[in-house]
Amino acid sequence: MDNEKQMRVLVLDDDSFMLEFITHLLQELGVSEVLVAENGRSGLYILAGQVADIDLLICDIEMPGMDGIEFLRNIADQDYRGKIALFSGVDANLLKAAERLAVARGLNIIGTLPKPVTIGAIAAMLEKIPISASQISVSDKALQVLDVTDIEHALASDQIGIYYQPKVSAITGYVTGVECLTRWQHARHGCVLSDNFISLVNQAGLINDFTHYVLRKSAEQLHVWLQQSIDLKISVNVSMENLDRFNLPELYEETIKKCGIPVEYVTLEITESKLGKDFAKTLDILTRIRLKGFGLAIDDFGTGYSSMETLKHLPFTELKVDRLFAHGASNDLATRAILESSIKLGRILNLNVVVEGIETEADYRLATELGCDEIQGFFIAKPMPADEFVEWLIAYEAMLDDF
Ligand code: C2E
Ligand code: MG
Ligand code: MG
Repeated sequence: MDNEKQMRVLVLDDDSFMLEFITHLLQELGVSEVLVAENGRSGLYILAGQVADIDLLICDIEMPGMDGIEFLRNIADQDYRGKIALFSGVDANLLKAAERLAVARGLNIIGTLPKPVTIGAIAAMLEKIPISASQISVSDKALQVLDVTDIEHALASDQIGIYYQPKVSAITGYVTGVECLTRWQHARHGCVLSDNFISLVNQAGLINDFTHYVLRKSAEQLHVWLQQSIDLKISVNVSMENLDRFNLPELYEETIKKCGIPVEYVTLEITESKLGKDFAKTLDILTRIRLKGFGLAIDDFGTGYSSMETLKHLPFTELKVDRLFAHGASNDLATRAILESSIKLGRILNLNVVVEGIETEADYRLATELGCDEIQGFFIAKPMPADEFVEWLIAYEAMLDDF
């Protein structure tokens, strides 16, 4: 086949006619290897026996015996990381609910395929899979063997790098600041995303050194940019575990001042903002951080512990709506409603509202129409190393100037 894609797809459906039909469509679209399973049990069996990864798993929701939801629960328990498309003849709301459930379990759902399925819908799904998908998954598997000693070594030997993701004004489109995100340049596994190692940093008891390191490196970088007349603000992630010392505001202030930048140029994003037992201590530290002039953002708003209760009690200046309520909001009523009300809430409370995780033009337009202040997401740009970010910035601003 002239348009062959080196891709391995597993289709799970109890209807043998449907399996044959989808296999045929996938082959038409050039997929090099199609595996099929007629029930959940044989699906699990096939997944367990794979040496290389499956690039896409297409899973029917309604099946006798082990249904799709049960099957997904099983693979979520085994930390399955591959891409999944859900597939069913059930009504659209039910299919959406199944999708949300799978996402809540940490599965990587890339879309849904309502029956009757068309070749166009499958082609659109395959477009979402980068050519290197299987390599990424293999490295994900390897990551499961990393431990606390690895992270200690990484911190000591400067293997933690910082990538910068732009935030743009929803009104002008120009870049207002960057979120500083950590990446681990691992000798064997390549570039490791923060989601995969922050918990290790916590387990190793190194989160204070880690955050301080990121803050200092990012502030040094901002100093360089300000000297080059690149006028930006920086946002650095701080976890609740960091808020354990009363002198933290002084420590952070001193670090920022030593780098020669104004404290007002730095926003601390509080992740997983669970109000712990020592609420008075948390409030004390955060209030004094604000008094020093730092911005304070509630990160991932709407998920987990990042809730209304936290928002009510802590002195935030910024609300970052989680990407769960941004991604796909333009074509899903419930997601849009949550996005809209989160933006409204932020505005009523006079907070700078940032919507993160915007991946498409339609979602970008919607977020701006709904009145947020800033937007962040792959639609604008992915996180990049400092040099690459500057190149990107020059090209992006030139494009806006020409507009
Ligand atoms: P976060 O603070 O909410 O950061 C945004 C995450 O979303 C980043 O993932 C970013 O790459 C990703 N992202 C941005 N735009 C899009 C998009 O359009 N689509 C999708 N699918 N993803 C998008 P990353 O870098 O893997 O970081 C994950 C989380 O790890 C961060 O979430 C933050 O909670 C934590 N983290 C990262 N760096 C640090 C750090 O230095 N300290 C602490 N405590 N946590 C950090
Ligand atoms: Mg953040
Ligand atoms: Mg976030």
